[in-house]
Amino acid sequence: MLDYDLVVVGGGIVGYFTSIYYAQRYPNAKIVIVERGLFSSGASTKNAGFSCIGSLSELQDDLTHMSSEALIDLVLKRYQGLKELQKVLGTTNIDYQEVGGYELTFELPDKDKITYFNDLLEKALQSRPFEASNHKIKEFGFSKQIKGLIKNNLEGTVNTGKLMVSLQNKATSLGVQSLTLANVLSVEEENNFVKVVIGQDNPEYVLKAQQVALCTNAFSKQFCPVIDLNPGRGLVMVSKPIPNASIKGSFHYHNGYNYFRFINGRLLLGGGRYLDKEGEATTEFGINETLKTQLLHDANQLIVPHHTIELDYTWSGIMAFGSQKIPLIHQVSDRVVAGVRLGGMGVAIGCIVARDIVHKMP
Ligand SMILES: Cc1cc2nc3c(=O)[nH]c(=O)nc-3n(C[C@H](O)[C@H](O)[C@H](O)COP(=O)(O)OP(=O)(O)OC[C@H]3O[C@@H](n4cnc5c(N)ncnc54)[C@H](O)[C@@H]3O)c2cc1C
Repeated sequence: MLDYDLVVVGGGIVGYFTSIYYAQRYPNAKIVIVERGLFSSGASTKNAGFSCIGSLSELQDDLTHMSSEALIDLVLKRYQGLKELQKVLGTTNIDYQEVGGYELTFELPDKDKITYFNDLLEKALQSRPFEASNHKIKEFGFSKQIKGLIKNNLEGTVNTGKLMVSLQNKATSLGVQSLTLANVLSVEEENNFVKVVIGQDNPEYVLKAQQVALCTNAFSKQFCPVIDLNPGRGLVMVSKPIPNASIKGSFHYHNGYNYFRFINGRLLLGGGRYLDKEGEATTEFGINETLKTQLLHDANQLIVPHHTIELDYTWSGIMAFGSQKIPLIHQVSDRVVAGVRLGGMGVAIGCIVARDIVHKMP
């Protein structure tokens, strides 16, 4: 029970997809996922479930620090990742709904900008994703402060919990084992294998692995102290039921930093990290009251102006960012590969990162 062909450290979207792709490539391989939480406990069970490839202002912001070729490549990866997600897990199993992503603007949308980004992405995506949808502002009941809505027709939503359960089921069906409440203390190279040491404070078990995949995203500095990666905490809140709230779509504003959608008559909203980037650059879970207050204010002023929002649930999750907005596939050694730094894009690109990890393995 201690010898494995592959040990995957971290049971989030990337860890599970890595185990699935490896099992498909080597059907007889002995694979285990080692997760320190009772279940996935970083970002994959905490996210907002947006299946997004980028809002117009997010892409415009990206172009200030990446070339247009790199941007097209990233958008295409997000698009292809969402297709792959549905193919591997099944659209219904993860409650995938391509209901459109809408960006709220505080000025009338710039038609030239819409044309520019449609032109830029058309060849790669084989479609022109963006269109102005201002006529829906009234239908959705948003405040008059919202002057424009720009729809991305290729975006939508998934059910975060169903996605993770589907991943677990798929991995189990391929013979992948998982150990939970199993904290990895260290990953140590030996001559012909890698030692994966498990325990709370002191070593309790040692697994022997031929290959190790580090899928620990924001928590990866423990294993690779020098990689270009910073943690970023994210906040999500869910309201009590709101009468007649049944708007379909995923919604963003402030360059994609803030987001919301409606689920079973409740408002899910989150983001606001830009309000305290330094304070939120942490691997500690917790609720930042400044962000919470501002998001609630936005909800009451902009999103549901005729109703006072009351919260039922609030939680945080931890993402990973770096100097570049692209995932990091890092070959630590011949036997150890890390696939990390997925930013706020992991629902879409988690499977792509996993595929790249497995490609790096012999
Ligand atoms: C609040 C929030 C909202 C988001 N919304 C969206 C969204 O709408 N759409 C989107 O595409 N993306 C979103 N994201 C980002 C997305 O969730 C992540 O990019 C994705 O989940 C990353 O997956 P992962 O497997 O790389 O990391 P994680 O899910 O963080 O998995 C890493 C796992 O490693 C485990 N681990 C860490 N250290 C150890 C150790 N020493 N031993 C054992 N296990 C360990 C952790 O417990 C964790 O379960 C959001 C993220 C957050 C936090």
